[in-house]
Amino acid sequence: MGAKIISGTEIAAQIRQELKEEVIRLKEKHGLTPGLVTIIVGKNPASVSYVTAKQKTAKELGFYSVQEDVPEDVPEDVLLTLIDKYNNDPKIHGILVQLPLPPHISETKVLYAIDPNKDVDGFHPVNVGKLIIGEANFYPCTPYGIQQLLVRSGVQTEGAEVVVVGRSNIVGKPIAMMLFQKSKGANATVTICHTGTKDLAFHTRRADILIVAAGRPKAITADMVKEGATVIDVGVNRIGMTPEGKAKLCGDVDFEGVKEKAGAITPVPGGVGPMTITMLMLNTIKAVKLAAKLA
Ligand code: NAP
Repeated sequence: MGAKIISGTEIAAQIRQELKEEVIRLKEKHGLTPGLVTIIVGKNPASVSYVTAKQKTAKELGFYSVQEDVPEDVPEDVLLTLIDKYNNDPKIHGILVQLPLPPHISETKVLYAIDPNKDVDGFHPVNVGKLIIGEANFYPCTPYGIQQLLVRSGVQTEGAEVVVVGRSNIVGKPIAMMLFQKSKGANATVTICHTGTKDLAFHTRRADILIVAAGRPKAITADMVKEGATVIDVGVNRIGMTPEGKAKLCGDVDFEGVKEKAGAITPVPGGVGPMTITMLMLNTIKAVKLAAKLA
């Protein structure tokens, strides 16, 4: 029997509808409008398309949204001053600086410069620390989206063996930290694998929930997956162009093979991807509520 397909497109749409209603309520009841600024340095096509999608969603949800296009050769101190301007702007509750940044700018300095209360990406060390001790204000968007996919699909995390492939600061580490917390939608036993892992398949075959964020097309094949497991494929790999000139994407999981063995699986595209932007919007709403002491 084929796996149940966990549709990020459908779950994201459901959450966006909830957020739309929340924005209306915040406006009507409290006179509050969530404000989001997205800052992009240069014109990297992938970054431009991500930021455009974030701005579009923010507008659809009724946010006050600002887009800052900064030239590629911007001096670091000018970018830091711009961030500080929005740290002090009461109409802005969330600041997102699209990564990666050009090599002459320190990503660390930029991420540290964002007010932790406006850090809707959840990458500031204060928020990373709070996440680890179970007191997060903002969960990083992709891991948060993954957790919501699990919870809203009825996948039991409590007591589950979770194996995460990949230890990036934006996906692998935070999703592992979230899922071992003693809380709802978590309380799992978590293993993190990486290129130093001796026998990857030994670990992946033990997983009740397998989360793959390795950036390696089809690295996980059916023989590496336990019968009935839930497989979350975070990978987005460009593997050519469609006849219409669009990027052809594939995940880190061999979808066709693994779907015959897994109990549930996310597709690429249409799985984790649509959730990431949605969770950014949810974090911005959380930020406005925190600022107004409603959360
Ligand atoms: P990343 O920085 O690309 O790092 C990849 C991680 O996977 C590293 O920790 C690496 O180990 C590990 N890895 C690579 N090959 C491996 C292998 N054969 N066996 C075991 N571990 C292996 O990670 P990322 O930024 O999280 O990105 C991962 C993928 O997710 C990419 O395809 C990216 O495009 C995608 N992504 C999607 C979204 C979304 O919204 N859908 C968001 C973020 C990322 P080492 O640490 O040892 O090098």
